[in-house]
Amino acid sequence: MKNLISIDSLHIFFIIVSGMFGAVFGSFCNVCIYRFPRGESVIKPASHCPKCQNPIAWYDNIPLISWVILLGKCRHCKASISIQYPLIELITALLFVIVYLKFRFSLATIVYCFLSAGLVIVIVQDLQTWTIPDEITLTGILVGIGVSLLGMFFPEQGLRVQNPIESIDGVALGALLICLMDLIVILLMKKPGMGFGDVKLLSMLGAFLGWRGVLGSLMIGSMVGSIIGFLVIFYYRYIKKIEEETEEETGTNDNNFYPIDPIASIFLGLSSIYLIIRLLLSLNHHISSTIPNEIIQGFSYLVIAFMVFSLLIALISIFIWRRQSSKDIKANMDLNEEEMEITLKAHYIPFGPYLSLGGFIFLLFGPELISKYLQILTITQQ
Ligand SMILES: [Zn+2]
Repeated sequence: MKNLISIDSLHIFFIIVSGMFGAVFGSFCNVCIYRFPRGESVIKPASHCPKCQNPIAWYDNIPLISWVILLGKCRHCKASISIQYPLIELITALLFVIVYLKFRFSLATIVYCFLSAGLVIVIVQDLQTWTIPDEITLTGILVGIGVSLLGMFFPEQGLRVQNPIESIDGVALGALLICLMDLIVILLMKKPGMGFGDVKLLSMLGAFLGWRGVLGSLMIGSMVGSIIGFLVIFYYRYIKKIEEETEEETGTNDNNFYPIDPIASIFLGLSSIYLIIRLLLSLNHHISSTIPNEIIQGFSYLVIAFMVFSLLIALISIFIWRRQSSKDIKANMDLNEEEMEITLKAHYIPFGPYLSLGGFIFLLFGPELISKYLQILTITQQ
């Protein structure tokens, strides 16, 4: 009993410690997010106010706390400090706690805390600047392969990939998949698809999570992306439109949003078709002694229905994208090249954040999701 209590308090202590580390790392993420796109070093000049250039003292640079004490204003020039800073510190802190709760006191916790901090930087920078930092992805690929070596020697440390071959498979498959889909998009739609940033990002996820992680991250990312994308479209089509009508102002860029970008749509469509066929084929074979056939069949149909739904989403988003791009080609006729690039950029929501989110969800639940899926298949195949 006494032992149990001490374990519990140790557990709580580690939760607090991982949260504190997360906040500190979130603070460093803020530095990276600000300096990577500007090509500045993240180490050399100490933190300074971007407005008045005054250096920020250590007591004004305590994650989360300083922002609250200073009421979000610079001590010297009173310029307001974006809420983005404490928000990213808070999110990173939460991610570190989640990773600790999942992997407990192990090597995996340390590795995956770093990985999630990297993903935070990728998500925010991709949303803000449409670029994914090589500093994270290229380094991440090498680190991920190195970590798989560690996994081989310390198999009890909870690392997801425990074989360098699996890690390298993941890197290759990640790059290959995005390039292939990019090629399809260019051939079919005659438009640039995903950038090379996404190639490196998925390769990095593959290095840490293996080839299963590549497929899983893409799947989850596409699904999350399609849901968020439709909410964004709904927002711009209906809610924004009402505001516009009252203001009597016609925005030109508001219709330039797609549920998910076309590559994700194609991937989602293809994997949906595959899964539907796979389940339909296995439906004919099952004879289970323990579970009534009706339940198995019902469940399989439910899964199939879900897949059909995601296939529909994929098709609709490709349709919207195609229609929009033919409209844009007409609209862009009299624009100069620079402006055209800007409208091209506005076409779809970047995919990097969805990929990163998919990778993080797969990191937490991947093996469980796969075994659940295989369970469905084997039950129906018996
Ligand atoms: Zn200042």
